[in-house]
Amino acid sequence: MNECSYDSYVEHPRYGRKPRITGLNPVNDYRRVFLHWHSGDDCRIPNTAVEADLSRQSPAAVPVTHYFDVKRACRDCGRPFIFYALEQKHWYEELGFCLEADCVRCPQCRKKQQGIARMRERYEELFHVADRSPEQELEMAECCLALMQESVFHPRQIERVRMLLNRVADTHRQDSRFANLVARLEKFVRTKDGGSR
Ligand SMILES: [Zn+2]
Repeated sequence: MNECSYDSYVEHPRYGRKPRITGLNPVNDYRRVFLHWHSGDDCRIPNTAVEADLSRQSPAAVPVTHYFDVKRACRDCGRPFIFYALEQKHWYEELGFCLEADCVRCPQCRKKQQGIARMRERYEELFHVADRSPEQELEMAECCLALMQESVFHPRQIERVRMLLNRVADTHRQDSRFANLVARLEKFVRTKDGGSR
């Protein structure tokens, strides 16, 4: 395996971007060795196997006896990345994920998605606060803009962000946080205007 071919792979915060060679390379024999059906010949990286602890996996019709580093293409950004054998062990033995669960996003897009999920939660939480403080209104405006930028919200929410900013203008006009948000909103509006023409 030419190591240079992994240069374009998305870096994993713990394992880097190259395979972890363990020297272990069992083959499916359907009696003692069962490899994951997500780890076919097309994506499995030789000599990277890690032994599984079957007693810790969620019960499945067919267990997995060895995990391999496998090549994946990210669903969101399309870049290649490695779903590491040790990550699989962590998913299926520590976190309790069922063996059906596959990794479809690169580490960067996974992180980004977690950030978006947190922001959505926070936005909804703030949305239901009956009597929001100016601080909360500002935070809500920030979440709303960020969610539009990530295409979670429709650009029509621009009006909501403007309304929230208007409400907090008296108390926060001098804040850099407020100014920053206004600048980001204007920039977003410009890209939307430009894009629709
Ligand atoms: Zn990605």
